[in-house]
Order: sequence, then structure tokens, then C-alpha cells
Amino acid sequence: MATTLTAPFSDRVLRIEPSPTLVMTAQAAKMKAQGIPLCDLGAGEPFFNTPDHIKQAGIKAIEQNFTKYTGAAGIPDLRRAIAERHRKDWGSDYTPEETVFTPGGKYALFLALQTLVQKGDEVIVPVPYWVSFPDMVRYAGGKCVFVETDEADGFELHAARVLDAITPRTRVIILNSPNNPTGAIIPASHYEEIVLAAHKRGIFVINDECYVHLNYGPEHDRISAGRFHDAKEHMVLVGSLSKAYCMTGWRAGFALAPKPVIDQMVKLQSQSTSSICAITQKAAVAALNGPQEFIADMRSAYQELRDDCVTSLNKLPHVHCAMPNGAFYAFPNISAYLGRNSIRTSMDIAQRLLREAHVVTNAG
Ligand code: PLP
Repeated sequence: MATTLTAPFSDRVLRIEPSPTLVMTAQAAKMKAQGIPLCDLGAGEPFFNTPDHIKQAGIKAIEQNFTKYTGAAGIPDLRRAIAERHRKDWGSDYTPEETVFTPGGKYALFLALQTLVQKGDEVIVPVPYWVSFPDMVRYAGGKCVFVETDEADGFELHAARVLDAITPRTRVIILNSPNNPTGAIIPASHYEEIVLAAHKRGIFVINDECYVHLNYGPEHDRISAGRFHDAKEHMVLVGSLSKAYCMTGWRAGFALAPKPVIDQMVKLQSQSTSSICAITQKAAVAALNGPQEFIADMRSAYQELRDDCVTSLNKLPHVHCAMPNGAFYAFPNISAYLGRNSIRTSMDIAQRLLREAHVVTNAG
């Protein structure tokens, strides 16, 4: 029998919505279970499998009974590997004590926002944004201040617009380059201007670098904010092994930040997840310390797919799509179809694409 529970749920949890990406994924899973073949362009899943040496490290961990609790921040080998990999790849300067391993980059973002944002604080979020940012900010009690970008210049984020949005209540600026969903990258000069201005004002930048390895822009813009050492005191870098190492289901992410910030994040992790899957941690050490060449191969493959996909989208009547400079998303403008044939929103289009064409997409 269905219950009609009317328990007084917390204000916190009522402030947020389920992730729309996961809602589409659930609908698609239902159709797949009914035997309907789908073209799945929904959740941000790599097209490739986890590389073999990473899988073997996980298998070995199980065989050697590395299956117990670990420290809340991650095993020492892994914290060393995170700091070292980031230094080698991006020229950052963090010690193992300035790292935390998390169940996905998503949880690192959650921990960082919970650690830094108080009720009433403003958090600057550039638009278009990854769907989880606003809900995570609201859950922390913060208020989103959205900063617009323009389709005409490929949704590039302009430092001046971010700085104009700063008020005495601004606590955090969230940056995400390459961006989900547009694939836009933040040019190095704008990046530097934003992080240095934020640092000067005591505002934290939470830099979501989930797609940092998938940047097809000019060499000088293929960077992490970790190279701006002068702003380190007010920066939290969030990374993910999901996309770069094809490990979405392992749940492997991390943050790099000054030790006092990391200590608070670890405290919260210790009271929420205790530690992170021990097997995943061993696999993550193998990923970060092992061969990295396949990342460049994967990047080239995605770049080719991007070119095909965006060219095809731009051939559709009344659709135009800016060329993404990173990640593996395309963000076509379908506004010409809104207000016609009872289509009101991009979600209506996503639903019709799923029902009638069996293509899974996300609204935006
Ligand atoms: N940040 C962005 C912009 C994303 O698109 C995603 C996943 O799609 C994440 C963070 C979280 O990735 P994960 O939790 O799998 O590391």
C-alpha cells in the first residue's frame, strides 16, 4: 500500500530538486529494460572503458584483502599521487596534506560548498552551468548570483562580468573550465584576472576542473587555475578521475586546497562517508601514477566526434550550435522550436526526443 507520508522534511532538503540528468537517465533505463534500443547522449559518460592497468589494480586490491576502512582523507599513497600528478600536469604546488580524495568530484564540490558557504552568502555561478551547482549552493544556505555569457562568442566567460557581480556578500565564485554543458573554456588571461581579484578580496574560487584534460583550445589556454600560485590561499581545485580515466562508476574525485580548508572538508567527509571505497583508492593510485598517454588519444577521438556532432547539428533546420572548445558536450540552440507544436521548454524537446526518436539528451 502506498503511504502518503507528510513528515516535516527539513528546509534544507526541500530547497533542492533531484538532478535532472539522473531523472532522464532513470527514464532511459526504464525504456532500455523494456527492450527499446536507445541512442544515449544523456549522462556525461566517457565513450571508453576503464584502462586495463587501473582495473587490475582494483582486482589486486580485492585479492589482497585491501577491503577495510581507510583514513577519511584517503590513503597516503593516493594523497601523494594526487598532489604529484597535479604538479606534473598543471604546475600547481600542493602537498599531500593539502589534498582529499572523495567519492567523485561531485562530493568534493559538495564538501567545499558546505565548508565555505554560510546562510545568506552569495555564490557567483556563470551561466550556462552544470545542473548541480545551484542546488548544492542552496543546500548550503547560499544564494546564487548568475553571470551571463553569450552564445555569439561561444559562451566565453568574461572576467569583467564576474567582477561586476561581486558584492560585500560574495563568498565564493564557481568556475568550470571546460564547461558543462557548453564546452567553453576560460581564456588564461580572464582566469588569472578573476582568481587574483577574488584572492585580493578574500573571496574563494572553487574551480571545477573535471574536464581539464579535455581542452581543445589553443595551447596557452590549456591550463588549470592551480598555476596561479599567488591566489592559492583562496582557491579550491576540484578534480575527477571519472572522465580523464573513464572511471565514472568507481566514484573517484579529489580536491586540492590550503590545509585549513582541506581539514574542514575531511572532517565533514569523516562524519558523512567515513572513508572512500578502499578498492577505488588503489585503482586511483594506479590511474594517477601509471601511463598517461591514453588521455591524449582519447582527447583526439573526442575532438573528432565533436567535429562530426556539431557539423551535423548545424545542418538541422533552425538549429545552431557553437563549437565547444572542451569537454564532450554540445549545447545546440533549439529556441526556434519553442512555442510550436505544444513545445514550451527544452525539457519538452528532450522528452519528445526520448519518446519519439529514442534519443536521450538533457534539457538546458
Ligand atoms: N563537475 C562537472 C561540471 C560535471 O559535469 C561532473 C559530472 O558530470 C562532475 C563535476 C562530477 O563528476 P564525478 O562526480 O563523476 O567526478
